[in-house]
Amino acid sequence: MKTIGLIGGMSWESTVVYYQLLNRMARERLGGLHSAKLLLWSFDFAEIEAFQAVGNWPAAREAMIKAAQNLEKGGAECIIICTNTMHKMASDVQSAVSIPLIHIADATAAEIQEQDCKSPLLLATRYTMEQDFYKGHLRDKHGIEAVVPDENGRTIVHDIIYQELCQGIITQSSKQAYLGVVEEAKSTGIDGIIFGCTEVGLLIGQADFDLPCFDTTELHAKAALDFALS
Ligand code: GLU
Repeated sequence: MKTIGLIGGMSWESTVVYYQLLNRMARERLGGLHSAKLLLWSFDFAEIEAFQAVGNWPAAREAMIKAAQNLEKGGAECIIICTNTMHKMASDVQSAVSIPLIHIADATAAEIQEQDCKSPLLLATRYTMEQDFYKGHLRDKHGIEAVVPDENGRTIVHDIIYQELCQGIITQSSKQAYLGVVEEAKSTGIDGIIFGCTEVGLLIGQADFDLPCFDTTELHAKAALDFALS
């Protein structure tokens, strides 16, 4: 089994889920006392969020690159960035190390294609929904046209991620707010829902929807374990 290097802590609420999923899947596939071989670099998310909030992406990029290089030095054989948003600098991170980076949007796209979805709704941070690094990756590399909520919907989704989910706060009213955003978007002809932020699965799940849901955390963890066991 190969060692997976995780760049996490963004937030740690979802890194915990990665840790659990990777270990559970390793046990399911290998049995008995098996667990995943992992190396975790966990940021103080307040430092990263401060870079994001003022648009200091170069500083955020430097931090991601250093983390990846340290994981490689420590013996990691692949890298996963445990957040969709910080895939903004995925190609810079990949260029800075000699081990493969397993891209969260590639892992997600594979399942979207498997289910034959063409225009899924993207629920994510404002950066991921509004900039092109993620939607562009899905479109140009995989031919998937992700749809984003309207301005009001984007504000709801983004604010709940930072003010609640990343701080471990899960409420019924926020769940209802997310369901409302999805309901509203249905008129645009969406045929699936991407949980495009690694904390979104803490609030909503497949059972809440009649459209196929793509939880990036689960799909990314699975792709990483597939690689580790290949
Ligand atoms: N974990 C989130 C994501 O998947 C948001 C936190 C961050 O900005 O990294 O995008």
